[in-house]
Amino acid sequence: MPARQLDYDIIIVGGGLVGAGLACALADLQSGDSKLRIAIIEAVPFRDAAQPSYDDRNIALSQASYRIFQTLGLWQDMIDAATPIESIYVSNRGHFGAVRLHAKDLGVNALGFVAQTRAIGAAFKRRIEQRDNVKLICPASITALEIHNDHADITLKQGQHCSRLSCSLLVGADGAKSKTRELLGIATQTHDHGQSAIVANITPQKPHNNIAYERFTDSGPLALLPMSEQRCALVYSVWHNEVEGMLNLSDEAFLAQLSERFGDRLGKLVKVGQRSSYPLALSRADRTLAKRAVLIGNAAHSLHPVAGQGFNLGVRDIAALAETISDALKENLDIGNDASLGTFRRWRRGDQQRIINFTEGLVSVFSNPLAAVSLLRNLGLVAVDLFPPVKRLLARQTMGIAGKQPRLARGIALNSEGS
Ligand SMILES: Cc1cc2nc3c(=O)[nH]c(=O)nc-3n(C[C@H](O)[C@H](O)[C@H](O)COP(=O)(O)OP(=O)(O)OC[C@H]3O[C@@H](n4cnc5c(N)ncnc54)[C@H](O)[C@@H]3O)c2cc1C
Repeated sequence: MPARQLDYDIIIVGGGLVGAGLACALADLQSGDSKLRIAIIEAVPFRDAAQPSYDDRNIALSQASYRIFQTLGLWQDMIDAATPIESIYVSNRGHFGAVRLHAKDLGVNALGFVAQTRAIGAAFKRRIEQRDNVKLICPASITALEIHNDHADITLKQGQHCSRLSCSLLVGADGAKSKTRELLGIATQTHDHGQSAIVANITPQKPHNNIAYERFTDSGPLALLPMSEQRCALVYSVWHNEVEGMLNLSDEAFLAQLSERFGDRLGKLVKVGQRSSYPLALSRADRTLAKRAVLIGNAAHSLHPVAGQGFNLGVRDIAALAETISDALKENLDIGNDASLGTFRRWRRGDQQRIINFTEGLVSVFSNPLAAVSLLRNLGLVAVDLFPPVKRLLARQTMGIAGKQPRLARGIALNSEGS
């Protein structure tokens, strides 16, 4: 009996930054005589105000993410919206000790870039619209799934209408509250940091000179990232009970409080744009793999934004999964085969664990009020700054280039001969 024709090779649930990014990375892969057939199921339209992934936030893209987007030919669509980070300055409010990282010392054009999530999403959307083999099904939500030996069936709901679709491989990229993860019966471990991030655009008196500032304060970390028009993107972690008060302050009072915590490195902080807040928690799936299914991005791991690593980790998930699928296709293997997916999981586990440890370590060490811990962290900042190998390690971590790099991060296109 001929094998049943499946509706799609891959169904990606969640068309946020990571799901849409994966579709772009897979869109040009060849499966036999035709391109891979990909569907993206997304609950909220791209330009809707309620879209959780593409809002006014500005996020830091690592050097590795930049290289991956460059290899995929997406960077040219993002470059106008991206500001290079040439230096990073890490300090601890009210204490000695600081770490400085400079792109030129590390032989790179930039340590990373700051870009608006909306602009990244627009670049993904343009690419998806240009590819006939990628279908965006939106607004639609996954409501049920069945995993079989050789395929997965999903049920999706569009308004009042329910339908079923089949695929070889199902990818859950539907964020921290992933329905796909729940339907696969995968539990998560969550640690509420007791904090929320307040984000806003800030205009300082002095030019930012493309420096990203990371400052640890008694309430938590505060980052000011360089943006276009000499503005800075603020990510300010505060305890949950402070959020309402901070959001309701007048602009003058908010800027005065921010200046008091940040210091005067950028001169007076003269203007603040619209403020919004995001609750912060670490959540991590117990498993990122099931038969015929894999979880990536926030569905697999959602991090505190202190080190600007969440999406960057997701971009490396994208690059590694696309490489795994490309390798399976070149060997004429079923793309949902257990061995390939197992290799993908083992590869990603190390990077995911390292970044979670790094991020959580920063949050706990720098939020600890004990005097001894405070002394140690200051000595730590001095040691890191003075000891080049440790500093290089920190830089590699920040740039996302520690550990095994996917081909896309090394500038090698997945469909190129011999890749
Ligand atoms: C304040 C803040 C600052 C940050 N700064 C940085 C930074 O500087 N650098 C960095 O790398 N990261 C940063 N991050 C993290 C980054 O925003 C996330 O890692 C990234 O958005 C994760 O993308 P995702 O696509 O995995 O998940 P999401 O962005 O949550 O997207 C999930 C998508 O799935 C859709 N969806 C949900 N449920 C369903 C369903 N049942 N069916 C269909 N679709 C569904 C949603 O509508 C959404 O579009 C920051 C986060 C915060 C909160």
